[in-house]
Amino acid sequence: MMIRSLVWLRDDLRLADNPALAAAVEAGGSAAVLHVHEEAAGLRPLGGAARWWLERSLASLGAGLKAAGVELLVETGDPRTIVPETVQRLGAGNVFWNRRYAPAARAVDAAIKAALRERGVAAVSHPGNVLAEPWTIRTGSGGAFQVFTPFARAVRQSPVAIPLPAPFGAPAERAAPLDAGQPGWMRKLEGHWSVGEAAARAALLRFLDEALDRYAEDRDRPSVSGTSALSPHLRFGEISARQVWHAAQAAVLDEPARGAAVEKFLSELIWRDFNHHQLHHRPDIAAVDMRDTFAGLEWRDDPPAFTAWTRGLTGIPVVDAGMRQLWETGWMHNRVRMLVASFLTKNLLLDWRLGERWFWDTLVDADAANNPGNWQWVAGCGMDAAPYFRIFNPLLQAARFDPDGAYVRRWVPELAALPDAWVHRPFEAPESVLAGAGVVLGQTYPRPIADIRASQRRARETFAALKSTD
Ligand code: FAD
Repeated sequence: MMIRSLVWLRDDLRLADNPALAAAVEAGGSAAVLHVHEEAAGLRPLGGAARWWLERSLASLGAGLKAAGVELLVETGDPRTIVPETVQRLGAGNVFWNRRYAPAARAVDAAIKAALRERGVAAVSHPGNVLAEPWTIRTGSGGAFQVFTPFARAVRQSPVAIPLPAPFGAPAERAAPLDAGQPGWMRKLEGHWSVGEAAARAALLRFLDEALDRYAEDRDRPSVSGTSALSPHLRFGEISARQVWHAAQAAVLDEPARGAAVEKFLSELIWRDFNHHQLHHRPDIAAVDMRDTFAGLEWRDDPPAFTAWTRGLTGIPVVDAGMRQLWETGWMHNRVRMLVASFLTKNLLLDWRLGERWFWDTLVDADAANNPGNWQWVAGCGMDAAPYFRIFNPLLQAARFDPDGAYVRRWVPELAALPDAWVHRPFEAPESVLAGAGVVLGQTYPRPIADIRASQRRARETFAALKSTD
């Protein structure tokens, strides 16, 4: 059968508010959808957990498309070869896609667009999964924003496009789980997530119904489901940032008292755009410090400490809880992401790139903009990062945001029987308390691999020295 339009979907695995898909339907005639597992220079290969998610997301998308009589083709290789070949094989006259903003990806897309046009094929791109495209948000002098607050103001002042309806009915229900000989740690993810457009929509509705009202307070409580858990759905475009934005705005119209909570939530969505815009202007954010002065920093080399961090065996309970949550679920609460990243880069003085790569492999929402952007923010070398002398104390943070220790007890069960007063600092607990809770430091749970106060001082000195060369 001849296909009139090919839709090349990348990180936009949904039917609703999908401008490229809508354009293909609008063009009339039959359409096919292509996804390519891309192997091309400059494109970062996905980590393990994200690959796991992608497979399921494609299965779900494929089911939704099939119900509408549209075939999903999945190929692996260089899209510069695969897209034109597929177009030729199908005899398609139009190709549609939604834009992406990382320079390497844009170069690939531009090359494909030029090659297709040379063959007389219409290649048309549409806005991608951001609130505002990078070239629409500029400083007064026409440059890119490097500071979040004015960036956020500019985004709020620019109109966010109204989401498009799904071109063919409701999104598919969740596809059957796949089980393709995956390693054990990825198999575990199955129990924690529903993947696909319908699941994304359900997560959004749950959040709006159950958590939005208390978002401003609960978003920092890792033991509570106080956030949307939309990040992997947004990462793969199972839902668009525009859909989330407008749904949250509508929630305020329903209930004006939610205003402050919604503002906070929208501001987090704007952080997502901020990072994507940074990546658009700085292709190397996963490798190079955004602040030049950091290039002089001598990170420590300590492989055993790094291994202890990855395994959740640092002896600092909240850090270990976070790293174990990540390993078990492919996700970690934002507050705890900040704490574990700070512990790695400040207390252990290990290079943020090590942590970024670990997250890249283990997060289901691992994102080429948000992951390095946030790591650089915590390490202090990012744009608009916290000042170097503000170093999180994980013990104080844990006492504040996990006051009853519920989060630590859930993920570090060997400490579960400790009383609240000691659950975040077992290394200071009296012997009798430890014995009563069945904790033997160095045996059932490690002693801290870093002294918090001393390592905080060392970090402050190291970073201050850097600052003086600024
Ligand atoms: P909500 O609080 O419900 O927020 C809604 C959405 O806003 C999120 O889904 C996300 O898309 C966006 N958002 C929220 N916080 C941030 C933020 N700080 N920066 C950018 N966008 C944000 N987020 C990723 O999506 N991918 C990553 O790879 C990633 N790596 C991170 C690494 C570190 C070291 C840190 C500190 C944060 C990282 N984040 C990353 C940001 C944040 O932790 C997650 O987006 C958030 O925890 C996801 O949970 P949620 O969907 O429930 O968030």
